[in-house]
Amino acid sequence: MKHIMIIDDSPTIRTSVEYALMGLGYPIANAENGSDALKKIAAIKGKGDDVALCIVDVNMPVMDGITFIGEFRKDDKFTPVLVLTTESEEQKIRAGKEAGASGWIVKPFSNQDMVKVVQRLVK
Ligand SMILES: [Mg+2]
Repeated sequence: MKHIMIIDDSPTIRTSVEYALMGLGYPIANAENGSDALKKIAAIKGKGDDVALCIVDVNMPVMDGITFIGEFRKDDKFTPVLVLTTESEEQKIRAGKEAGASGWIVKPFSNQDMVKVVQRLVK
């Protein structure tokens, strides 16, 4: 089974992304920072499941999104990673792309925009 992993330190954002993606039929996992996500992804893969997509915030305590992407890409070159950004984070978008991000979406996003981007990335 392939999970969508939502990584954001804001419970409100995690819930709104989860709500937007509910209809797609993927099991959804959550993490509150990059380090938490790496542990949870290892647990998912350890069960024989996989990750279809990671959706990751940039600014988080413990491990930020850009560092997460670099770590995640060390042993997963292909699973798409979608970065959640604010308009002012252009430099971080560039850093994210260099680290191996597949795309980004600017906050606040509509449910429709989120679904469209996710469907493009997971197909
Ligand atoms: Mg944040």
